Amino acid sequence: MNVSKPQAMVLQVVQSGLCIGCGACVSACPEGMIVLERLWTGIWQARAVEGCCSACGRCEKVCPFSPTCPDEDELGRELFAEESTVEDEVLGYVRSSYVFRHPDENLRLRSASGGAVTWFLERCLREGVVDRVAAVAASSGDFEYVGCDSVQQVRRCSGSAYRALRVDTVLSEIRESEMKWAVVAVPCVAKAIRSLCQLDARLQRSIRVLVGLTCGQTKTNAFSEWVAWHRNLPVDQVSRFRVKEPQRPADDFAVEFEGGSRVHWREEVAPSWHARLFTPPACGVCDDLFAETADVTCMDAWLPEFTSDWRGTSLVLVRSTLVDEVIAGAERAGEAEEAIERCCLSRLRSSQGGPERDKRVGLAYRLELRGRRGVYTPSKRVLPGLTGSSLERLAWRVAERNAEVTFRMDESSRFQLYRWARKRTRIFSAIRRVDWSLRRLDSRLKGGIRRIARRNGVR
Ligand SMILES: Cc1cc2nc3c(=O)[nH]c(=O)nc-3n(C[C@H](O)[C@H](O)[C@H](O)COP(=O)(O)OP(=O)(O)OC[C@H]3O[C@@H](n4cnc5c(N)ncnc54)[C@H](O)[C@@H]3O)c2cc1C
Ligand code: SF4
Ligand code: SF4
Ligand code: SF4
Repeated sequence: MNVSKPQAMVLQVVQSGLCIGCGACVSACPEGMIVLERLWTGIWQARAVEGCCSACGRCEKVCPFSPTCPDEDELGRELFAEESTVEDEVLGYVRSSYVFRHPDENLRLRSASGGAVTWFLERCLREGVVDRVAAVAASSGDFEYVGCDSVQQVRRCSGSAYRALRVDTVLSEIRESEMKWAVVAVPCVAKAIRSLCQLDARLQRSIRVLVGLTCGQTKTNAFSEWVAWHRNLPVDQVSRFRVKEPQRPADDFAVEFEGGSRVHWREEVAPSWHARLFTPPACGVCDDLFAETADVTCMDAWLPEFTSDWRGTSLVLVRSTLVDEVIAGAERAGEAEEAIERCCLSRLRSSQGGPERDKRVGLAYRLELRGRRGVYTPSKRVLPGLTGSSLERLAWRVAERNAEVTFRMDESSRFQLYRWARKRTRIFSAIRRVDWSLRRLDSRLKGGIRRIARRNGVR
C-alpha cells in the first residue's frame, strides 16, 4: 500500500507510540482512509486503510502529536489573546479564576472534584448557551463520549474517566446535528478539536464551548485490571474512578470496581500511577497541563486548605468572555452565591505543582532522552535538557521505561508483566522516597545555616 506523505506522518506518530487514539485524523479525512483500531488494553490507535490520492494533509494538521499541528500557544493566541487579561507560560491565557463547590450536596459528592464541570454544563443547557453536551459516560464496563440533551444526562456523566477516549464518533454527531454544543476534553483532545475546527467550518460553528480538564496523564484500561490484580481482587471493570469517603481527605478517594470492591488512592493506586505504569507514551511528551485551548479549565483543588474537605473542591480557570458571562449570569440570579469565590492565580497554579514539574522539568529530560535515542518526537514548547537532580532523572527514566513496556505488552503474557510492574512500582517509590528525604534534609540544612547567619548579623 502506497501511503501519502501526511498519512505516513500520522503512521509515524502511531509507530513511535505517541498516538493517544483521539480519532481526530479519522474525523479530518475526507476520503475515509484512516480508521481506529482498538488494542486489547482498550486504547484506540490510528491505521491507514489504503493510500490516499489527494494527500490533502488534513490528518497531519489535526493530530496533536504531529509536527504540523499548531501548538497551544498559537491556538490560544488566536482564540483568547483579545479576551484575556493575563498570559502565563504554563496556564495559558486567563480572564479570571475561581474556587467552586456544587451547591447541590449530592451532585458535589458524585462529581470528580467540586462539580464545577457539571454545574457549568447544566447552566449552559438551561440558559440556552448550548443545545447539547458531549461528555463521557460509563457504558458496559467501559467509558465513551456521548451526546447529552438534558441536565439529567449531564449529571449522569459526572466524575473522571482515567482513560484515553476517541472523540471522532461524537464529532460526527456534532457535525450532522447543526446544533450548539459544549464539549468536555482533556488538553490533547481539546487541541485536536481546535485544530479540526480551523479546517471545518461546521464544527467551528457548532462547538460553542470547549470545557477543558487539567490533565497530568491518563491510563489504558489495563491499569485498572492491574490495580485489581495487585490487590488480589477479582479482575472486574471499574465502575467509578473516584468515590469520596467521609473519613478520608479529598485526595484519598477510592476507585470502585463493578463487584463493589474499593481500593484507596494514596496507598494502593498512587504509587503505580506515579510510576507511569500503563500510561500511554504520548503523555510523556505532552506539555499542556491546563488545557490551554479550552474556554474554561477545571481541576482539583490540591491545596491543604481544600483537601481537608472530603467532599471535594474545584478550581476553575476562565479564558473566554462567554464563560465569564455564564458565571456572572448565575451570580446575578443568586444561584452561585455559596458556590463560587475568586481564587488567586498563583494559588491555582501551585495546586498542580507536581504535574507542572513533570510537564516542564521532567519533560525536558524525557525529550533529551528521546533525542539521544533518535526516536520521532514532535517539537515542544520545552527544550530538551539534563534537568532535575540525578535521583529525579533516575525516577523519570524508570517511569519512561514503565510506560513504554506496559503500552506494548501482549495480552497473553500480561500477568507475567503485572508481576514485573509490582517490582517496578517498588523501585520507583524507593527512588522517590530517597529523593524527597534528601531534598527535605537539604532545605533544613539551608534553613539552619540562614538562621545561624542571621543571628550572627551576616546577610
Ligand atoms: C485523564 C485525566 C487526568 C486528570 N489529571 C488531573 C490532574 O493532574 N490534576 C487535576 O487537578 N485534575 C486532573 N483531572 C481532572 C479532574 O479529575 C476532574 O475531572 C476535574 O477537576 C473536573 O472535576 P469536576 O468535579 O468539576 O467535574 P464533574 O462535575 O465530575 O464532571 C466531569 C466531566 O468530565 C467528563 N469526563 C470525565 N472523564 C473524561 C475524559 N477522560 N475525557 C473527557 N471528559 C471526561 C465527564 O463526562 C463530566 O462531564 C484529570 C482528569 C482526567 C480525565
Ligand atoms: S485524504 Fe487527506 S486526510 Fe485523508 S489520509 Fe490522505 S492526506 Fe490524510
Ligand atoms: S493521536 Fe489522534 S490524530 Fe494523532 S494519529 Fe492518533 S488518533 Fe490520529
Ligand atoms: S497527559 Fe497530555 S497526552 Fe496524556 S491524556 Fe493528558 S492531555 Fe492527553
